Amino acid sequence: MIGAARYRTHAAADAAHAVGDPVRVAGWVHRRRDHGGVIFIDLRDRSGILQLVFHPEQAPEAHAAAERLHLEDVISVEGDVVRRSDDTVNPRIPTGEVELAVRALERLSETEPVPFSVEDESTEPSEELRLTYRYIDMRRPRRLAALELRARVVRAMRRVLDDAGFLEVETPVLTRSTPEGARDFLVPSRLSQGEWYALPQSPQLFKQLLMVGGLERYYQIARCFRDEDLRADRQPEFTQLDVEASFVEPGDIEDLTEAVLVACFAEVGIDLPTPFPRMAYAEAMRRFGTDRPDLRFGMEILDWTEAAGRTEFGVFRSVVEGGGVVRGLVVPGAGEGTSRKDGDDLMAEAQALGAKGLVWVAVQEDGSLRSPVAKFVGGIATDLGAAPGDLITLVADSEEVASDVLGTLRVRFAERHGLVPDGAWAPVWVEEFPLVGWNADEDRWDPLHHPFTAPHPDDVGLIATDAGSVRSLAYDVVLNGLEIGGGSIRIHDQAVQAAVFDAIGIGPDDAEDRFGFLLRALRLGAPPHGGIALGLDRLVMLLAGERSIRDVIAFPKTATGADPLTGAPAGVDDAQLSELAVRSVAPPPAADS
Ligand code: ASP
Repeated sequence: MIGAARYRTHAAADAAHAVGDPVRVAGWVHRRRDHGGVIFIDLRDRSGILQLVFHPEQAPEAHAAAERLHLEDVISVEGDVVRRSDDTVNPRIPTGEVELAVRALERLSETEPVPFSVEDESTEPSEELRLTYRYIDMRRPRRLAALELRARVVRAMRRVLDDAGFLEVETPVLTRSTPEGARDFLVPSRLSQGEWYALPQSPQLFKQLLMVGGLERYYQIARCFRDEDLRADRQPEFTQLDVEASFVEPGDIEDLTEAVLVACFAEVGIDLPTPFPRMAYAEAMRRFGTDRPDLRFGMEILDWTEAAGRTEFGVFRSVVEGGGVVRGLVVPGAGEGTSRKDGDDLMAEAQALGAKGLVWVAVQEDGSLRSPVAKFVGGIATDLGAAPGDLITLVADSEEVASDVLGTLRVRFAERHGLVPDGAWAPVWVEEFPLVGWNADEDRWDPLHHPFTAPHPDDVGLIATDAGSVRSLAYDVVLNGLEIGGGSIRIHDQAVQAAVFDAIGIGPDDAEDRFGFLLRALRLGAPPHGGIALGLDRLVMLLAGERSIRDVIAFPKTATGADPLTGAPAGVDDAQLSELAVRSVAPPPAADS
């Protein structure tokens, strides 16, 4: 046990095994109860809680001192561990069969009233307050448990990768712009005024350089910085497990990642079955309407285009004739309760998601159809395999819109109708992403992953002529509908790299200017290589059963990127700015902020 005997000889949880022995423990006053003379105090340290008992006759001095203790005071006490009488045993805590009869008490730190209760976890203070006093918040067992789990997960990752011969290498934080497609955080240089470092959006370029450097197998628990507008599950700085290896194909990285994830899940007692299913992007889009399919439940998107084109229903016919599709979902058991009003609401919901409309069909017990368009859609239940009691919802639109809208509705319906099994874990690899996506604002193709992602070998010939249909060697690992990691095999062939740059509108000079150092390295003996990054925050959030990544980060930022604890971001004085040759043109902050 780490700690000076002057403060403690045992952790609170270990004291339970020291019945009959004199022990010293140290920690915080978690809870106190006065019982007609006898004072009970729950002492809390990181290991858990131990009940202290102060008897007025046996230890009058300690008892008198205990009377003056406040919640969250830091104390060190010495006494004897004794068994509790049967009627006072507390089966809810691991040390509930014993207590410490205190002989001497020393208050190490006197505490002012804390802003919210540590002991009562049922009241949840506002997030602003919790983050301002994060060090109080993390005293609460649930928060502590999340941080402990995070440390165990990182340890499990290191164990698997170390065993597989990977080297942990640190890469710079002060660097230049990296190509992940988000906005950079910039740091002005004092020594080279007018020039700027960028904080890395990921170690992407460095991990590729490490492969050129012959390291063959690299990993890092890496901090990444992306200056994006924050959505619910984003932080301006976040952590990823970053991995790169040489002489590999996608399956090698996938197998390794599975081993890492299996070890992480074992930390919470979950046996993740391998191999994970592997699915091409095109198939994921067709069957689930998303590249992040949630496979915990079925309810796949079904195609009814051909039959719809033969109906007398004008809307369907015109969509099909115009090259669109009619696709739908069969929601098990949801037909029965669907009223006309519910149907109108569904229609509005689909429209809000971007569809022109939605057609619903409830299959009745006798097999007949209840629907505003019942007379046009006879036979649909058989075609789509819908049973009596089911609800069919159809969207007629372009393939892209239908798939997008149904992909979202599929997840919502599953939650709404209780189709997501509790405690299920459904990982899947999504592979063969398109190499590029059309950027309508800029009127050009953009890389979907980053510009160093290798095209699928079968499609290399199409890069110049039909970039949009080129598949890549990129892969994402998806768990319960959340992307928890992604990576790719990289280009190591200069001619291919030039063709890709050309397709995404990066001219040779531009490429040289932005990534010249990497391109030079790739010309100086680059092995075939590829890698992946796993989002650590989100993974731990899932494992901890938390709903926000902020709950598994020791000192997170709020949704506006602020840290209420330190007050960052904050102004700096003019002298600092002038050293950097930087002048602020921002309006002065409001007086109260
Ligand atoms: N650098 C990528 C990312 O951070 C991951 C990778 O390609 O390995 O998303």
